[in-house]
Amino acid sequence: MYSRFTALEEFAEEDLDRIQNSTAVVVGLGATGSVIAEHLARHGVNLIVIDRDYLEENDVYSSSIYTPEDCQKLLPKAEAAGSHLKQFTGVETHVEHLNSGNLEILHDADIILDGTDNLETRFLINEYSEKNGVPWVYTAVLAERGYSMLFDDKCFSCVFEDIKAGSLGTCETEGVMREIASIAASKTALKAVRYLAGKPAEEDLEIVPGGERFEVENPGCEVCQGENYPYLESSRDTVAVCGEDKFQIERDISENAFESLRDTGEVVADNDYLTRVEINGNSFTLFRSGRAIIEAEDRKQAKAVFDKIIGS
Ligand SMILES: [Zn+2]
Repeated sequence: MYSRFTALEEFAEEDLDRIQNSTAVVVGLGATGSVIAEHLARHGVNLIVIDRDYLEENDVYSSSIYTPEDCQKLLPKAEAAGSHLKQFTGVETHVEHLNSGNLEILHDADIILDGTDNLETRFLINEYSEKNGVPWVYTAVLAERGYSMLFDDKCFSCVFEDIKAGSLGTCETEGVMREIASIAASKTALKAVRYLAGKPAEEDLEIVPGGERFEVENPGCEVCQGENYPYLESSRDTVAVCGEDKFQIERDISENAFESLRDTGEVVADNDYLTRVEINGNSFTLFRSGRAIIEAEDRKQAKAVFDKIIGS
């Protein structure tokens, strides 16, 4: 099955064995994560995939591996991705938001791949990586530029500490060119495969499609020098999801929550994983775990809607 890979001058059977005895965690399964996961799956890397979101119509365009039917059913990305990727390798799926409370999902990782769309999760992954000595690869795409960088000896916070989470444009406001996302994701997958095979992999910031590479200065910051981990220690329960108008809330909920949600608006999806209703033109999606993704003007309004319907 892997003859085209082992025929490469730089790689042999033992490299393939090393790759296939590894476990990679892919966090986020959208425009970049879905491509990264598929590359690694076809190499036979054991996968753990995690995504908090469900598929929507725009994923037919922006992501790979999902069918229009998956998107119409509003399946969670992790479940839809899992069904596809299981054809090629072993896959463990998590329909969850990676946060400081469920980092055990990362415990088996030999490498962590960033397919997220937000800085908060990247700072969290970086702190986990610094503390536990697990490398990760950053991937980002915005409009028609993509970025990829391996962090093994280097630290993401040193490079990005001046950028505040939430201060950048998002894929919702700036758009995503799917080919650029795919190129950046392929760069990331290639770095992962090289790393897992024990081959040299550069730690510089690569920009696509131009191909510029930057040696990034590493002056030392409170995370890697001070062993201070603010994101590992934070427990914020409302976070913004890609874009300005979707917010996530995680709470323990009662058994009646789903009934009261169905009674409040027009039910547009009710599958094994989630219930989604439209209320005055805004969607409210409640996962079986109790996590909600709510369209609202701001955090405060999202919380108010949640408390009114589900209870505080
Ligand atoms: Zn640092």
